[in-house]
Amino acid sequence: MGERRAALVTGSSSGIGLGIATAFAKAGMDVTLNGLGDAAEIEKIRSGLERETGVTVRYDGANLMQPDACTGMIESAIGALGRLDVLVNNAGIQFVSPIEDFPVDKYNAIIALNLSSAFHTIRGAMRAMKAARYGRIINIASAHGHVASPFKSAYVAAKHGIIGLTKTVALEGATFNVRCNAISPGYVLTGLVESQIPDTMKARNMTREQVINDVLLAAQPTKEFVKVEQVASVALFLTTPAADEINGAALNVDGGWTAQ
Ligand code: NAD
Repeated sequence: MGERRAALVTGSSSGIGLGIATAFAKAGMDVTLNGLGDAAEIEKIRSGLERETGVTVRYDGANLMQPDACTGMIESAIGALGRLDVLVNNAGIQFVSPIEDFPVDKYNAIIALNLSSAFHTIRGAMRAMKAARYGRIINIASAHGHVASPFKSAYVAAKHGIIGLTKTVALEGATFNVRCNAISPGYVLTGLVESQIPDTMKARNMTREQVINDVLLAAQPTKEFVKVEQVASVALFLTTPAADEINGAALNVDGGWTAQ
């Protein structure tokens, strides 16, 4: 393939998404970044990545809580780069609370972003991918797509859901050379995890160190956080020909968490 592939990574202004977008740009793909945050900060990331890699790096600030924003972002990306080969649904948020106190608006927001936004972006991208006879869709699930932890009812429900969505899309795209897989990371020390430490301290009446060692890494047998670059490498692998027959899978990158 002579021309450059084009990828879009949702929630790539920080954390795992930024790691994946960086790996893709370094591998020679044009990339659309997305995510919320400080405009100047994001522009610095965008222009820096473009300068470093020589590919086109664009940014779309769509708020993916809204279905129309999801499909609008896909249309703009195809319009700007002329194609969409790789779609990574990564944007996600977390909220931790016993279910009886779980705010309904937080539940709705987690389902909207962590699950429904992936439905809407895939719905918007699938026709073009089928027509191009090429598409690689990667959904960032979680170990919580396979197993549960208390106080994370919305997140665990959304992550279990996205693995079901992944399998369905894998079947629909199978004969069109469109692949859909999930990656299920264990704990990665990003802003998302940092920010749930105080809530977990409160919910369980623990110190920060206790939360890290006895809650976050309790189930991760390696006793190490997964690194952003390790998740990004698996995502990049899923775009290579070696992975062409991987379809509908949820690949665990969790240090053995879900082996238990
Ligand atoms: P993060 O907070 O660093 O990144 C989340 C990204 O989503 C950011 O770019 C943020 O701007 C974006 N985002 C938030 N709300 C948005 C909205 N309304 N519209 C568009 N973008 C929005 O978190 P992260 O840890 O890098 O998480 C990325 C994904 O990985 C999430 O789906 C998360 O559930 C998953 N995950 C994370 C871990 C972990 O331990 N960090 C483990 C398993 C799975």
